[in-house]
Amino acid sequence: MIKKTVWSPDTCDCKIEYEWNTDDSASSRKHTVSKILNVCEAHKDLADNATKFLSVLEENQRKNILYGKIVENIDSVTEEKTKSDGTTYRDLKTNCKFNWSFDKDRKLIVDLVGFTTTDKDTIETLIQNDNKLNGKVVIN
Ligand SMILES: [Zn+2]
Repeated sequence: MIKKTVWSPDTCDCKIEYEWNTDDSASSRKHTVSKILNVCEAHKDLADNATKFLSVLEENQRKNILYGKIVENIDSVTEEKTKSDGTTYRDLKTNCKFNWSFDKDRKLIVDLVGFTTTDKDTIETLIQNDNKLNGKVVIN
């Protein structure tokens, strides 16, 4: 069965309807754009819907991958938090901030608050070792 979902990423103002086939296993499942309901300034000039979707997805994943790596690797800025159902997860300490934006070239600019120089050096190394991030992120 073909299912459709509308996705509004937090990384731009695009609004994309995509579809996938529930008969496909999760590992081979392909998400294909079916409709672009809104296109933002940054993505409006891209060639076609598939290119727009890929670009929006890449930017959103880039931000999430970087955040995940920081929480996973930099113990000094994270703490254990508890969800309402009692399960715990690691997240940034309340006094540490991951403030992000994209510049006009769609580079991810991240202002880290409450991080030491050593933390930032470790993050730079994590970025350099990941080809999804390398050259596409600026840490301040
Ligand atoms: Zn967009």
